[in-house]
Amino acid sequence: MVNPSYISALKNPIFRTISKASKNLNLESYVIGGFVRDFLLKRGEAKDIDIVAVGSGIELAQEVSKLLPGKPKVSVFKTYGTAMLKSGGIELEFVGARKESYSVESRNPAVENGTLEDDQNRRDFTINALALSLSDDNFGELLDPFNGVEDLQNKIIRTPLDPDITYSDDPLRMLRAIRFATQLDFTIEKDSLEAITRNAERIKIISKERIVDELNKILLANVPSKGFALLHKTRLLPFILPELVALQGIDEKEGQTHKDNFWHTLEVVDNISKATDDLWLRWAALLHDIGKAPTKRFDKKLGWTFHTHEFVGAKMVYKLFKRLKMPLNDKMKFVQKMVLMSSRPIGLADEEVTDSAVRRLIFDAGENVEDLMTLCEADITTKNPKKFKKYHANFQLVRDKIVEVEERDHVRNFQPPVTGEEIMETFNLKPSREIGIIKDAIKEAILEGEIPNEYGAAREFMLKKGTEIGLKAIK
Ligand code: ATP
Ligand code: MG
Repeated sequence: MVNPSYISALKNPIFRTISKASKNLNLESYVIGGFVRDFLLKRGEAKDIDIVAVGSGIELAQEVSKLLPGKPKVSVFKTYGTAMLKSGGIELEFVGARKESYSVESRNPAVENGTLEDDQNRRDFTINALALSLSDDNFGELLDPFNGVEDLQNKIIRTPLDPDITYSDDPLRMLRAIRFATQLDFTIEKDSLEAITRNAERIKIISKERIVDELNKILLANVPSKGFALLHKTRLLPFILPELVALQGIDEKEGQTHKDNFWHTLEVVDNISKATDDLWLRWAALLHDIGKAPTKRFDKKLGWTFHTHEFVGAKMVYKLFKRLKMPLNDKMKFVQKMVLMSSRPIGLADEEVTDSAVRRLIFDAGENVEDLMTLCEADITTKNPKKFKKYHANFQLVRDKIVEVEERDHVRNFQPPVTGEEIMETFNLKPSREIGIIKDAIKEAILEGEIPNEYGAAREFMLKKGTEIGLKAIK
């Protein structure tokens, strides 16, 4: 059978340049992996292209650079035998075709030079092993030894070799399988899925950074729950996010049950993903209920309670980020804040929404108040259509009120209208407790709506409050 040709995938002139460079060095080269896969899936032009050379990938990269205008810089990674250069906004990664053999202890294989087939054998999935020739005589010819095209059409993730070997050799591939299944909405073939389950524990040898990279990609997919359900099913999740596993299950006492907070969480993540592409808000959705496992209690009068779960959950966020070597910066603080405040708007939605309650919400959530509303709306997973509508309508009211109140009172980035210095000067005070008391009283009066957030009213209030606690104004 003649292999099909996909010259149309190689319209970018860079491919002819690589072809010419290969000819100059008298070697064969191929485009391989994600670029070919995404072309066939019509996922849009890739920003990074992987080239495999049957010979030295580093030399090929250097030859390509010579032929390009401006001779772009080649970054060489000697230990990996790879080289990278950037041309016209595209990142080209060059590697020599190789044969790999693994040992049990690590995911760093022993490497020797190999043929194209050897190189395709070491690829993770059939759909990632597709190669297009860049040689003059068969430019654009597809080399697909494992029927990857068929798997693309059937939307299947399959390993080129025995899945037990593929996954055990490099356990990161288990996460990649789940990540691709989620991103592309593919099914992991049965033997593969079983092999992942068997090898789950080997994920322990993978660095946290790589694990988090894959988690982030799963979270950024259209329907992230698919990935987390697979992580759960294959028993990878306990090694990665045990806090989520602890949310799974329904307890019953005296005929009373609570909802399964694991599956609820996944619904919330899918909901929020329809509203935002913000990775950290999606993380907040994923973690918003993690405090519920350690705080769960049964009370004869109240039934199941999760008292202070938001507070406990926010503390757990820090530990979780730290364990996974995630950034402990403002992103982490944002997720903590969202978890801590995740129930606040719910309190508002039940009753009449007062201005002062909304002012307090804006004051406490600050610049994140809209994100918080987005999280709370995503948190509505009731299957009762009447309640669903009612909660959403209530939250819309809260959102409208937020705009209205903020326009009038400006408490989002609250700056005390009367400074501590002015309080000191007015009452001839040294730094002391009284200043804090007065400042706090002014803030409270504004939030309660007793006085507007203005200088004149705040100064008047200050004088009154000062007199009340026995101070004398000298100014
Ligand atoms: P994307 O860039 O969208 O994440 P990709 O398939 O290009 O998808 P990369 O991580 O850029 O993924 O890797 C490029 C290619 O290298 C893959 O298509 C695959 O052929 C191969 N590859 C990457 N990681 C592994 C791995 N852990 N085991 C085997 N092959 C891999
Ligand atoms: Mg890629």
